[in-house]
Amino acid sequence: MPFSMAFILNFTSVRGMSLNEVYADFVKILGYENVLRGDYVQPYSVDKYTRSVVKPTFILKPASVQQLLQILSLARKYGMSITPRGGGFDLAMGSMVSDGIIIDLTRLNEILEVNDENYTITVQCGVTFEDINEKLTLKRLSVDLEPITSPEATIGGFIASHGIGYGLLRHGCSVLNIIRDLEVVLSDGTIIHTGFKNLPFGKAGYNLTSLMIGSEGLFGIITEVTLSVFPAPETVASVALNFSSIEDGLNFLGDITKRLTTAHSAFMMNATFKDNIIRNALKYPFGEFSGLIRLEGSREEVEWEKDSVENLCGTSKNNIDEDLWNYRFLYHVIRELNYPVLIDDYIIPVKKSAEAYNVIREIAAREKLNFMTHFLYLGSNIVLNLMYVDDIRKAYSLEKEIDEAINLIGGRPLTIGLRRVEVMKKTSPCLFNLLSEIKRVLDGINLFCPNKLL
Ligand SMILES: Cc1cc2nc3c(=O)[nH]c(=O)nc-3n(C[C@H](O)[C@H](O)[C@H](O)COP(=O)(O)OP(=O)(O)OC[C@H]3O[C@@H](n4cnc5c(N)ncnc54)[C@H](O)[C@@H]3O)c2cc1C
Repeated sequence: MPFSMAFILNFTSVRGMSLNEVYADFVKILGYENVLRGDYVQPYSVDKYTRSVVKPTFILKPASVQQLLQILSLARKYGMSITPRGGGFDLAMGSMVSDGIIIDLTRLNEILEVNDENYTITVQCGVTFEDINEKLTLKRLSVDLEPITSPEATIGGFIASHGIGYGLLRHGCSVLNIIRDLEVVLSDGTIIHTGFKNLPFGKAGYNLTSLMIGSEGLFGIITEVTLSVFPAPETVASVALNFSSIEDGLNFLGDITKRLTTAHSAFMMNATFKDNIIRNALKYPFGEFSGLIRLEGSREEVEWEKDSVENLCGTSKNNIDEDLWNYRFLYHVIRELNYPVLIDDYIIPVKKSAEAYNVIREIAAREKLNFMTHFLYLGSNIVLNLMYVDDIRKAYSLEKEIDEAINLIGGRPLTIGLRRVEVMKKTSPCLFNLLSEIKRVLDGINLFCPNKLL
């Protein structure tokens, strides 16, 4: 039997136990209200964007690592697969599963410690960015990073999908750069720590943190996270910009962000994006592409640099800047659309980004498909989020063609999820094999997300 199928086949028999008996066992650990089945699993049949319905067998909501360990022990006994879920903002249906258990981790939501001597925050995996920011703001500290999708995303989910987000450009905008330690529960119940709480990333001895970043729940469940924190900036400001072409926009951002000492983050979006949502909401005459630069630092520096950018690109003083910044989260934009939405995300060298955009535009035009794009500027790369809003079926059928075209240009899709593994097998077979081997070592019984590496 192929390794990846072992668990799924075992699961269908539930090892001779009826689902009612299994349910009763989980209830003994978690109580009725924290074990969902039947129609009650419906909210977990979708993620925040799709209507692609799956039917998990149980939703389990542990409130402690102890309960999580008990659940894993039963899941092993009954041969049921486990898919962890945080906020469900994943872009690749990664937190959904049919015929298996979804563990909802949002009750593991305690902020355990803010250490302002060591400049760290330690939280449970289900804590959201909103909660982290609220807590740190009180202490004039900041993690200086937010997901592109939503502040309601959990830290565990963000790390498991290797979040890159709005953050200090010079810190690289990746969660990788701020993690000091992860506590991870493996499928046999072993608890490991991947780093050192009191030392910045990779500063001493072995460090397994990177293994877990972007692992999408395949290797273990991240239960506790220690992050570096930074002094909060004295002030922040945004400058909204208009560009007539993607080339103009990217050149301008590349040039200006190198010169600004207070550049925090920068993004761009195309006209369809704004036509669909923001133009109506903000009533602002956007150009073909619009962008935003976020500045943070001392009041004097930020004000001076904001004025310089506005003078340089002839932006008239307006009130749009902060409003546009408030539209930075994709989910906040998307929830105003009619569902469903299909989102793909790619990382692309900046120099190739215009070419990638034009390829997407040509393919979409050929198929008469509307799309919206959001570009997060990262210095030498951009993260391109591509959203289709009307004909999702057609968009699905084009995904492979666009993935391959972007791959040829030198970019690559960011996700594995349930959709992308075929692309990975084709474009990076060595990586696929290596991931399968690591999985075999860390989760030999294939308990976690067996459907993701098929
Ligand atoms: C490969 C990939 C790359 C992405 N890149 C970005 C990005 O660069 N920037 C960005 O803002 N967004 C990115 N996203 C979307 C990102 O998932 C969301 O922004 C958000 O951070 C997810 O948080 P969540 O709590 O909603 O997690 P969910 O959507 O619930 O889960 C996300 C994934 O992580 C797993 N998971 C959830 N919690 C845990 C845990 N505690 N331990 C182990 N696994 C867990 C899930 O099974 C699922 O595969 C990416 C998604 C994927 C799949």
